[in-house]
Amino acid sequence: MLQTLKTCFGYDSFRPLQQDIIQNILNRKDTLVLMPTGGGKSICYQLPALMMEGTTIVVSPLISLMKDQVESLQANGIAAKAMNSANDETDNLILRRECMEGKIKLLYISPERLLTEMDFLLKDIRISLFAIDEAHCISQWGHDFRPEYTQLKTLREHFPEVPIVALTATADKLTRQDIVEQLDLKDPQIFISSFDRPNLSLSVKRGFQQREKTRAILDFIAKHPNECGIIYCMSRDRTEKVAETLTKHGIRTGIYHAGLSTSARNKAQDDFINDRIQVVCATIAFGMGIDKSNVRWVIHYNMPKSMESFYQEIGRAGRDGMKSDTLLFYSLGDLVMLSKFAAESGQQEINLEKLNRMQQYAESDICRRRILLNYFGEAMEHDCGNCDVCKNPPERFDGTIIVQKALSAIMRTDQQIGTRMLIAILRGSYSEELLQKGYDKLKTFGVGRDIPQRDWMDYLLQILNLGYIEIAYNEDNHLKITPSGAKVLYGQEKATLVVIKREERESSKAKKKKVEKEEQKLFSVTTLSDDGISKELFEKLRILRKKLADQQSIPPYIVLTDKTLHLLAAQRPTSMEEFGNVSGIGEYKKEKYGADFIKVIKEFLAHT
Ligand code: ADP
Ligand code: ZN
Repeated sequence: MLQTLKTCFGYDSFRPLQQDIIQNILNRKDTLVLMPTGGGKSICYQLPALMMEGTTIVVSPLISLMKDQVESLQANGIAAKAMNSANDETDNLILRRECMEGKIKLLYISPERLLTEMDFLLKDIRISLFAIDEAHCISQWGHDFRPEYTQLKTLREHFPEVPIVALTATADKLTRQDIVEQLDLKDPQIFISSFDRPNLSLSVKRGFQQREKTRAILDFIAKHPNECGIIYCMSRDRTEKVAETLTKHGIRTGIYHAGLSTSARNKAQDDFINDRIQVVCATIAFGMGIDKSNVRWVIHYNMPKSMESFYQEIGRAGRDGMKSDTLLFYSLGDLVMLSKFAAESGQQEINLEKLNRMQQYAESDICRRRILLNYFGEAMEHDCGNCDVCKNPPERFDGTIIVQKALSAIMRTDQQIGTRMLIAILRGSYSEELLQKGYDKLKTFGVGRDIPQRDWMDYLLQILNLGYIEIAYNEDNHLKITPSGAKVLYGQEKATLVVIKREERESSKAKKKKVEKEEQKLFSVTTLSDDGISKELFEKLRILRKKLADQQSIPPYIVLTDKTLHLLAAQRPTSMEEFGNVSGIGEYKKEKYGADFIKVIKEFLAHT
């Protein structure tokens, strides 16, 4: 097994559970695999496919997913093909013949196609294994239910002797049961791997207004030169606005949402996969079908509606196991909007509870990864060290007076105001409506003048999360004081707030200089990145990878993953043997790319 792993995929060791899963399949047992995105599910059936006699049939829901898998297998010199509606009949004729001659090791097929081929092709070829990818699509409980998947039930009747492995990244119990029952798995062994993705950093920025978000995003991208990422937004409109801003700043950006034409969406997806654009601004419509392993970061411009969505979306970063960054913006405005959606939805209680858990995550002052994993039923014994709370623990102070000022203003208006008016009263700013209602006569008018508007927004969010106020969604989002808020207001209890930290803003001139310096550094031979590799060499290797990818019309990450590229830059192999020893390089890639990469490395070494 290890030898096949190295020869065919270039890896030296298995990830947790992979070996056990593969052994179980080789023993011809039914198997269910639950692993997070990027966990390494594919190898679990691809390796047995290579070791068993006959053809493995892989059922996959989307053409783009099949394409990606087939391309990466072919890039390792493995005989894999796809049969779906993208093929014409001549392709299929050839493909059928190849299958019957036993030339294909892995045949990817859509569930519709599988049914039509059931009585013909499939009876004529020797099938080693059925692998059902994205198996949660079979369940109505899951979020990607596909009616075609339910027909896979008949597989077991037609092929009682062939083992089935089902794989998914959705771990909840109902879905799991459904998969086992519907596929009629025989006494299946179920493998559940940890859902932790330690290579993803987690951070949250609270209470940013649009302009601050823009600035933060531009800073963030400047720190990730040439690295691809996704910005998720709540609305279509917002994706377009954000994309426009980024484009203005010279960042290659695409847009993806359900309101665009299919061709526009495909183009955006294609450009992204092939590193022609750096950023995609998207709604949640973007994602399934993206197997791009070198997404280096994910930003949530708005808060997602549940932890499930959040985890799935950030999970699209760092599939190759390399360090990747995630950033979530969390604001009162989003919270109000999402609460309204949840309150008006069919499943009000469930959706509000889901939102509530998401909010707790965003508000957390303990390690965020612990909260995340705990939500998915996994206990973590220590802090992660790779989230903003671990890196920068919050400081607290006695905020009783601040809270009292806010609550008192609410009280004196008979709890008939929303956040905007509240802040106007506290800050003593005049507006027509405020004067009309006579709020300028209140005793609290102007008592919070010393606190800037955006800090008030932040404090109000804290006050809300501490449970001192509630938002009445059915009453124009007016703020209401809770019983525990009343205790603070009347001095029976103290309130502790978190110190607001804003990153020091550099003047734009200083920043420009810094960016220029960074750029120079990028191309100077001596600079090393954080992990001690030469950025110049890495750039050269990256450009070579892109060239080789374009020549073959495949995405760069399929030529070599970012991880392998980093290893090359670090280990600097100068012989074919050394090159072949690098993780991620199997026999086929060694022969195909060795000479080109070694040449670039040697040239680099000669000049340093
Ligand atoms: P999933 O299907 O679970 O989302 P993949 O099968 O696409 O994940 O694997 C994610 C990445 O991890 C791929 O780049 C894959 O080549 C890599 N990978 C899988 N198994 C190993 C391993 N044993 N060692 C190193 N890298 C691995
Ligand atoms: Zn942490």
